[in-house]
Amino acid sequence: TIGANFERMAARFGEREALVEVPTGRRWTYAELDAEVDRLAAALIARGVAKGDRVGIWAPNCAEWVFVQYATAKIGAILVNVNPAYRAHELAYVVEQSGLRLLISALRHKGSDYRAMVEEIGFADVVYLGDPGWDALLAQPANPDAVRARMASLAFDDAINIQYTSGTTGFPKGATLSHHNILNNGFFVGELLGYSEADRVCLPVPFYHCFGMVMGNLGATTHGACVVIPAAGFEPEATLRAVQEERCTSLYGVPTMFIAELAIAARFDLSSLRTGIMAGSPCPVEVMKRVVGEMNMAEVAICYGMTETSPVSTMTRPDDGLERRTETVGRVMPHVEVKITHPETGLTVPRGEPGELCTRGYSVMLGYWDEPGKSAEAVDTARWMHTGDLATMDEHGYLTIVGRIKDMVIRGGENVYPREIEEFLYRHPDVADVQVIGVPDEKYGEELMAWVIMKDGAAPLTAAALRAFCAGKLAHYKIPRYVHVVDSFPMTVTGKIRKVEMREEGVRLLG
Ligand code: ATP
Ligand code: MG
Repeated sequence: TIGANFERMAARFGEREALVEVPTGRRWTYAELDAEVDRLAAALIARGVAKGDRVGIWAPNCAEWVFVQYATAKIGAILVNVNPAYRAHELAYVVEQSGLRLLISALRHKGSDYRAMVEEIGFADVVYLGDPGWDALLAQPANPDAVRARMASLAFDDAINIQYTSGTTGFPKGATLSHHNILNNGFFVGELLGYSEADRVCLPVPFYHCFGMVMGNLGATTHGACVVIPAAGFEPEATLRAVQEERCTSLYGVPTMFIAELAIAARFDLSSLRTGIMAGSPCPVEVMKRVVGEMNMAEVAICYGMTETSPVSTMTRPDDGLERRTETVGRVMPHVEVKITHPETGLTVPRGEPGELCTRGYSVMLGYWDEPGKSAEAVDTARWMHTGDLATMDEHGYLTIVGRIKDMVIRGGENVYPREIEEFLYRHPDVADVQVIGVPDEKYGEELMAWVIMKDGAAPLTAAALRAFCAGKLAHYKIPRYVHVVDSFPMTVTGKIRKVEMREEGVRLLG
């Protein structure tokens, strides 16, 4: 179980640093962190939290998030990750949907008053971090032996965590994950990054999401590495300053985070960096190459995965060669199977042809919490997870994500994969970032619209200039008809671009 693994690591790496919270300067060794976790675990049992009870955490990245993660794992409570960007009605949904027993919440973050929202929905069993209630929870008489007894009663395939998906394509679904699911996935991610107790992992990615909690926290602590929290939310300056001051060896981010960091990277000493992960959404080749070259991340990896698969299914390896490490999402993870199938027939397609990526193995979730119908749609009777992503596989087993089935544009009968056009438009010298969507069109069914963020000081790109740039280099049906220049894209808190929202806006723009 996660608790037992963490105790082994604490015994082995006792005096090594396990966790650093940069904004407050607080730090914990493995032994100290384990003691904090035990104290909280005992306090939660004393508070009446039983095995299988759902305990929510609603907070931006902070050390207490990590205490709660390991304490709930030790006592077999099911941790419910609540998105820090949620508003009262979304909180109410998660509280209700998961049958929450206890909520551990921050008081406020970035202008959001969490306490007011908790009170608004009338949820009573709540403890606020940084509030007398938190101290009172920890101060109540608790029995450490109760934690040992509880740990002995847990099984590796018990549900331990409900993580709601990002909600990129619709309403979030509560992926239910076991110790076995996420502990192993975190371990293999750390293994393939070559982590040891010498590594210091900078995590500006949210803990509420598997990227922070599994690939970050579990990836680090299953190898004796140290977790560094640069700030509560994502701040490019604070992140690179933390890398510099804490001599971090590894840095994680979604592509948009790395794009923001690249703009200021030259001002920081990043010589301690060696590796890291870019994941979560399509990773532009140009951005990957610049991260390798300008941020000293020679071994940076791309991971592909989803909440439902704990999350990582494929990953690049440091010896894959720059081309494969920037242009593909790597090969399948150890002990995971992948296949690419025709979305209609379900038959495996020939190598090189796009189809739906399906994955199977220890990492596939137990199911969506309390939604047997949706679970059966996603995971078939042979335990294959149908990802909803389109991919191709080359003859050496390297995968490329072509896009989401839902994002594919069909223009005049031709399948268009926005990713391909985005990659091409990144090469325009004035373009900082670009997204391509389909908007309804009477003649062709759908037409392409490019949303463009211009580089500082560049004049807005016109549709005519964009078409001239593409002419003769892209097939005519792949050339966007419309251009919309913006300052930012609509995003989820995990940094994913919400194309659903862009399509709605696109329809409005075209009147
Ligand atoms: P929802 O399922 O609620 O719509 P979501 O799918 O964005 O949201 P997550 O589980 O956080 O929720 O994200 C998984 C998805 O992210 C994958 O299905 C895939 O579309 C995308 N993704 C992850 N990594 C990569 C990658 N390296 N390249 C391209 N796409 C990726
Ligand atoms: Mg999804």
